[in-house]
Amino acid sequence: RLHNLVQELRGNIRVYCRVRPVSSRELENGGDEGCRQCVQFPEDGISVEVRSAKKEKTFEYDQVFACDSTQEKVYSEIADLVVSVLDGYNVCIFAYGQTGSGKTYTMNGPPENRGCNLRALHDLFVKSKERRRDQIEDVITVSVLEIYNESIRDLLRDPSKGLKKLEVRRGERGNYVPDLTTVEVHDDAEVLELMDMADSVRAAASTDMNEHSSRSHMLLSVHVDTLHKSSGMRTFSKLHLVDLAGSERINKSNATGQALKEAQNINKSLSALGDVIAARGADQKHVPFRNSTLTHLLQDSISQDSKTLMFCCISPVTYNVDETFCTLNFASRVG
Ligand code: ADP
Ligand code: MG
Repeated sequence: RLHNLVQELRGNIRVYCRVRPVSSRELENGGDEGCRQCVQFPEDGISVEVRSAKKEKTFEYDQVFACDSTQEKVYSEIADLVVSVLDGYNVCIFAYGQTGSGKTYTMNGPPENRGCNLRALHDLFVKSKERRRDQIEDVITVSVLEIYNESIRDLLRDPSKGLKKLEVRRGERGNYVPDLTTVEVHDDAEVLELMDMADSVRAAASTDMNEHSSRSHMLLSVHVDTLHKSSGMRTFSKLHLVDLAGSERINKSNATGQALKEAQNINKSLSALGDVIAARGADQKHVPFRNSTLTHLLQDSISQDSKTLMFCCISPVTYNVDETFCTLNFASRVG
C-alpha cells in the first residue's frame, strides 16, 4: 500500500506542453525562414516534434496542446487538480517558457477569453457553493504577489502606504508571508477587480510593463479554509497559480548592471524550481527549497504530498527554436 501511495504521489507531477499559434506578424513574414513553423503534432496528443537546421527531436509529456487548443480545453484538463484543493490538497500550477510563448495568455488570458486563473476560481466558487448543503463551509481568500530580483512585492497592498519588506516565514499552516494582503472572495467579479488592482500596482512601479512582467514571477495564491460542520474538522489548503519570469537565456557579454542582476536572479530561481521538482520526482532526501525565494515560498505546495503541474509554453516558429529546445528539455527533466 505504501508503495502504491508513493507511486501515486510521484504521479502528482504533471507536465503539459502548450504551443501558441503563429502570430499574424509571423504569418505575414511567412516567406522568411525564421517565421516558418518548426513544431509538429503527432496524433497521439502527448508528443511534439521540433525541427531545426541542426536537429530533430520528439518530446513526450502528459499532454500536448497544439496551436489551436482553446482556453476551455486547457482548463478542462487541469480542473480535477484545481478542485482537489477542496479535498485538502496543496496544488501548484506553473507556466514556464520564454517571453512571448503564451504564459500569461494561459494563466491570465485576455478579457474576452480568460485563462486558468479565473476559470479556476470560478470552479472553486461553484463547487464550494454546492457542498454547503453537505454542511461543508469554505472561506476562500486570495493574495497576489510578484517576486522581482528575489524580493516579494504585495500587489494588493494599499498604495498609499509605504513598501514593507516582505519575507517568507514558516508557520503552522506551512510557509507564508506575514503582512501580505489577503482578501476574502465570493464571486468572479471580486476576483477580476483584485486582478485589475494587482495589474495597476504592478504597472505603477515599472516604466515598461512588458519588460517588467517578463522579469518577475507573478503568483495568484488561493487559500481555502474549510469547516466540516458535522464533524468539526477543519482543513486548510492552497492553490498557487504562477506565471513565471521568461526563461530565455540572456547574452551575458552584452548585459550589464541591472539587466545582468535580473537575469541571474531569474536563472537562479528557475533552476532552483527545476532542481526541487526533479529532486521530488527522484525521491531525493535533501530537497534544496531554500535556494530561491520562489521555492522557499512554495515549499509546502511543491513538496511530496502536494500536486504540481507545469505548463511548458513554447513558440511554434523557427527563430525561437533554440529556446524551444531549452524549454522542452527543462520540461522533460521535471516531468
Ligand atoms: P508570455 O507571457 O509567455 O510572455 P504572452 O502570453 O504574452 O507570452 O503571449 C505572447 C503573445 O501571443 C500575446 O500577444 C498573446 O495574446 C499571444 N498568444 C499566446 N498564446 C496564445 C494562444 N494560445 N492563442 C492565441 N494567442 C496567443
Ligand atoms: Mg507574460
